[in-house]
Amino acid sequence: MPDPITGGCLCGAVRFSFAEPPLATRICWCRDCQHLSSGNGSVNAIFATGTFAVTGDVADFRSRAASGNAMRRSFCPRCGTPLFARSDDRPDAMVVRAGALDDPEIARPHSVIWTGSAPSWACLDPELPSSPGQPAATPPRS
Ligand SMILES: [Zn+2]
Ligand SMILES: [Zn+2]
Repeated sequence: MPDPITGGCLCGAVRFSFAEPPLATRICWCRDCQHLSSGNGSVNAIFATGTFAVTGDVADFRSRAASGNAMRRSFCPRCGTPLFARSDDRPDAMVVRAGALDDPEIARPHSVIWTGSAPSWACLDPELPSSPGQPAATPPRS
């Protein structure tokens, strides 16, 4: 059994863990993610929800994403750290904001999405596959 993947918010009120590594990791340049990441792309790790555990209270913000999905974004109500995003259409998977992981090394991105809404000064890695909007395929299953 590998070590669990753990993380939490800046103030420490919220802690979470997953027993299994992420299904996918990617940088998202949608406008929602730019709001969450001080203007940068957001590094997102997508996990299966099956082994998700969390302690501490999170606050939720519901909205419709650029992809059209109804999203529930969770953050720490005390320090404001963005933590998770879940889609009502995909209850089996969830997005974790890589900045909240104790070891951000595990979130090395494997693709870039929503490059079409990135600003002209964005640093886009030409080595990574990219998509101008939401990729057609959902995150790969392992
Ligand atoms: Zn906090
Ligand atoms: Zn995004």
